[in-house]
Amino acid sequence: MKILVIDDAASQRMFLKAFLGKLGHEVFTANDGSEGIKAFAASDPDIVLLDVMMPGIDGYETARVIRGSNDEWVPIIFLSGCVDATDVEKGIDAGGDDYLTKPFDPKVLGAKIRSMTRIAQMRRVLVERGEALKAANQALMRLIDVDGLTGIANRRRLDAKLEEEIGRCARNGAPLSVVLLDIDHFKRFNDTHGHLAGDECLKQVARVLEAGVMRPADMVARYGGEEFCVVLPETDTEGALQVAERLRLAVAAAQVHLGPDRTAQVTVSLGAASRIAARGSTAADWLGPADDALYVAKAAGRNCVMRADMTAEAVPA
Ligand code: GH3
Ligand code: MG
Ligand code: MG
Repeated sequence: MKILVIDDAASQRMFLKAFLGKLGHEVFTANDGSEGIKAFAASDPDIVLLDVMMPGIDGYETARVIRGSNDEWVPIIFLSGCVDATDVEKGIDAGGDDYLTKPFDPKVLGAKIRSMTRIAQMRRVLVERGEALKAANQALMRLIDVDGLTGIANRRRLDAKLEEEIGRCARNGAPLSVVLLDIDHFKRFNDTHGHLAGDECLKQVARVLEAGVMRPADMVARYGGEEFCVVLPETDTEGALQVAERLRLAVAAAQVHLGPDRTAQVTVSLGAASRIAARGSTAADWLGPADDALYVAKAAGRNCVMRADMTAEAVPA
């Protein structure tokens, strides 16, 4: 242990240095309170032995300053000639952990140091566990928003994003667009290539979609099985249709790699919904119309984009 001895009596300092040194501890000394405070910061001790009666800042005040200066708990043991119960009380209230009256029995001091060491070690273990728990929690919080298969945002993250962007766009009177995509004939894809290949396909489509949106605020999320959702903040109908068409072409152009010599082609159908967000708007105001448009895109022959307010006309993009 690194032990800091703060005492104005040279004989006391010398005795403690020799005694604690013999027990295998590393000892630093300071002649008074203000020097002790500096030595505390400089030597980063594990335990402080602190005299009460000192010229200038006394032991109580020194303890208070040390306690206030750092959030790490370092045991402080008072060594004092004052034997009153109120002195003991004052020492503990000032931030001391134990109180020995001089002259003290070296054996008792040795035992107290062992006891404080034990508590300090236990505390260190607790702090380490707390930090590990915090790190694990942060990792978990990151995972909780991520789709396990594709690594992109999951439904939970999407819901939060939509709520956030609806609020933001409503405040700015800005348009918000949502595009729903669904892989065409994916059941057939699974039947032909197997479910593992289907999973691989979903991963690769997710990557193509992510590469296809440009703005930092845009988000691609996995909406359900083979359905994806793209959120485009501050984007109007025209912009949404541009992005949707770009994504459609990118997926159609990408060969899905399913092994050394196997590739497959997939296409997606898309439904786009755009509107100016208003106070009281909900995610369903975009998801419902986008889903309807997607349904129309499927009916119109797939591999095409439909705009929500065009659904009645069923005009392929
Ligand atoms: P459509 O063009 O009308 O969308 O036809 P579809 O076959 O894609 O549509 P349907 O909704 O009938 O089937 C979707 C299929 O997607 C069902 C299921 O086999 C597959 N699927 C959904 N989630 C996953 C997944 O996580 N992995 C794999 N491999 N397949 C999935
Ligand atoms: Mg589907
Ligand atoms: Mg499908």
